[in-house]
Amino acid sequence: MDEAEFVTPDVAVAPAPGVTPDGLITADVACGRCAYSLKGLNIAQLCPECGTPARPSVMGGRLEAASPAYVTRLYHGAICVSVATALIIVLGLVQVVTGVISAFGLVPTAVQVGLSILALVASIVGFAGLVLFLIGWWVLTAPDPVRRAAMLKDRARKTTRAGVLLLCSMPIAIAIGVGISVVGLAIGALLAVFLVLGAALATFAGLFVHYYGSLNYLIVLSERLDPGTIAVRATRLMWLGPLLMILGSCPSLLLGGTPGIAQSIGLVLVAAPVVAWVLYWVLIEELRQGLKDVRQAQTNVA
Ligand SMILES: [Zn+2]
Repeated sequence: MDEAEFVTPDVAVAPAPGVTPDGLITADVACGRCAYSLKGLNIAQLCPECGTPARPSVMGGRLEAASPAYVTRLYHGAICVSVATALIIVLGLVQVVTGVISAFGLVPTAVQVGLSILALVASIVGFAGLVLFLIGWWVLTAPDPVRRAAMLKDRARKTTRAGVLLLCSMPIAIAIGVGISVVGLAIGALLAVFLVLGAALATFAGLFVHYYGSLNYLIVLSERLDPGTIAVRATRLMWLGPLLMILGSCPSLLLGGTPGIAQSIGLVLVAAPVVAWVLYWVLIEELRQGLKDVRQAQTNVA
């Protein structure tokens, strides 16, 4: 492991209970890495058992006390997820607009050609966004090098990562599909069916595992940041996100009908998934800002 992982900043611990003003640990605080009792040590010292700085353990998992290398990693992960989510929102809006235009059958031939080019560009950008989203979430769920053993709520982080791995079947399946159609890979039809079916099942499972895993992980992270609204937003999205997605899948039924109230409702509902993604983006942006503030605080101390 990189030595820099264990360098922690000299942040103030004035509010920490069980520590005298000159830094003596008087409470029975366990080392965050090996659970050795740090009582009687100074917070500036290292754990005699495993050599981990005592400060992060005393500060109870606050990210200000975590290794700056680790905080930086989380910050970069949050940037990737935020950018990827913004891309998905833009594509969603394009899809809504083109969907509405097509629904009314108001598309001249020249525009139709433009739309098919737009659809091609959208699918390439969408693929890049998906890959960036998965990479971002992998980086954002890096293990805390100092508090690894003490992270009692580490299950959410591991669940999120399992979801990322399951969702990797999506870009892999797309890449295989493109490979087959472009290069004409000699692949058995039966094998292709099994691959597509397997990828679809893994993606479906991954969507659930990753969505709920990541929201739980954000709630755990928000406990390590300033008490913002991250946990509130994440908890709300647990039911609101799926609801908006389900509403968004209804318009295809409504839009097909005769013009009238049903079709008007359909036009509004078409945007529901985009609203869900915007709410998700706001949540990730709040995390990114929180991590940025922590990095700033650590730089000011160092
Ligand atoms: Zn230790």
